Amino acid sequence: MNMKIDPWSALNIDDYSKLFDEFGIQPFDDMVREIENPHKFMSRKIIFGHRNYDRITDAMNNNKPFSVMSGFMPSGKIHLGHKMVMEEIIWHQQQGADAFVGIADREAHAVRGMSWERCSDIGINEYIISLIALGFEPNGHIYFQSKSEQVKDLAFELSSKANYSELSAIYGFTGETNVAHMLSAVTQSADILHPQLEEYGGPKPTVIPVGSDQDPHIRLTRGLGHKMNMFKIEGREDKEGNKYFSIRSKAAPEEALKELSQRIPGKTKLFEGHVDVFSADNFESLMKVVQDVELEFGGYAFVPPSSTYHRFMSGLQGGKMSSSVPESYISLTEEPKGAAKKVKRAKTGGRITLEEQKKLGGEPEKCSVYEMFLFHLVDDDEELAQIYTECRDGTRMCGHCKALAAERTEKFLKEHQELREVAKDRLDEYRL
Ligand code: SF4
Repeated sequence: MNMKIDPWSALNIDDYSKLFDEFGIQPFDDMVREIENPHKFMSRKIIFGHRNYDRITDAMNNNKPFSVMSGFMPSGKIHLGHKMVMEEIIWHQQQGADAFVGIADREAHAVRGMSWERCSDIGINEYIISLIALGFEPNGHIYFQSKSEQVKDLAFELSSKANYSELSAIYGFTGETNVAHMLSAVTQSADILHPQLEEYGGPKPTVIPVGSDQDPHIRLTRGLGHKMNMFKIEGREDKEGNKYFSIRSKAAPEEALKELSQRIPGKTKLFEGHVDVFSADNFESLMKVVQDVELEFGGYAFVPPSSTYHRFMSGLQGGKMSSSVPESYISLTEEPKGAAKKVKRAKTGGRITLEEQKKLGGEPEKCSVYEMFLFHLVDDDEELAQIYTECRDGTRMCGHCKALAAERTEKFLKEHQELREVAKDRLDEYRL
């Protein structure tokens, strides 16, 4: 079956393994070993997949420049799902990334028909204030799509490389889809690539932490970035089986190719439209020369963006979390006592009677309260393992568990909302 992921329809994707097979997302398991202090979402397999995260671990482990970027559509209440992405951004910022957060107001305007004023109000008062309260540092960049000249200019450039068939194949756009919706897809590609512009330090690995429903943006952007680059590097083999690189371009001026052939150390040969490189033993240093020449000749040089994919929490009542059903989610700005009551009414993986629970044990895999612990309320792995084991062996009862989750939710929201008050006074420390 051909699976289509639509970022605007908030699909609940049950079978994540399909993403590996059908879209080439790699399992995250191997990456965790490369990270000294992985985030709990990584060690708990909540982040389950990636594209090219090896570039990010290489940058983190060898003190090389890298970026983290993600965006939020300002269309409603900030909830625990947004908090997950924010925590991932902040974690990468703490590991040394130059961090970018885009408020996707162009998308909200184009796709949801929201006024610019409302986008701005929700962007600041829901998302940005919580982002700061959660620990985003002022050396990062927070911006609105509609106010970033770099993003708008790059979106225009990228749109010259995107066509309707491609957008339609990725997003399922039809003849009824309005052009602004298409432009907002390209604008998100500009969001993702703009940390690599010269004014932000040039080409570098950039990770985009997202839910798996956002993968279409990543695929589109990787393709567009590749098309924008002045040169394409291809691995080749001659008749004798000797390997070499061929650097090709249709668009580069002859002088750019000449410059390239002179600057690459070792044996090179210049042809019309391409340079062959016969002794590049270090791909990274070859890339660096290529990128330098691309930039000097006014071209673009983008490293394909990396990405991580996290699982979604289910709704508190089971099924999907939905912004139109307030009982299904916890908002970071809602009244803490009311939120605690929602947790107490949440669907658990408990049995019908206490007797059965003691005999059969509960089912934490089907329990939204356990998910609250796993994703947000328990930092200590040992405590989490204890909850799991006690649930499974029938020594833990749902009433006690829900009371604990409710109490922690209330405490977290109270503290977060106090930090939000402090964040409001710190807004001008950030380059908005
Ligand atoms: Fe969920 Fe706790 Fe009940 Fe287990 S005991 S099913 S973890 S609420």
